[in-house]
Amino acid sequence: MSKLEIDSDDDNWRLVCPNGHTSVAPTNNHFWCRSCANHWDPEVDPEYDVVIDGETGEKYSRDDLELDFTAPGVYHA
Ligand SMILES: [Zn+2]
Repeated sequence: MSKLEIDSDDDNWRLVCPNGHTSVAPTNNHFWCRSCANHWDPEVDPEYDVVIDGETGEKYSRDDLELDFTAPGVYHA
């Protein structure tokens, strides 16, 4: 499987959570969705092991994602 490279703010929209939100932030070992976190349903877990590429629809794990940590707004610990 190829890697998904996120190296600028413009690429951030490609990270889509399984519930269709584009407010996904990659952290050290998983993904965190701000929209899911704001959801009141306690069944919703805002942390995900996979993220969907909004451009291709392919799923990527955190290990498949390459981030440029120097790009502003890309990385949110
Ligand atoms: Zn979400």
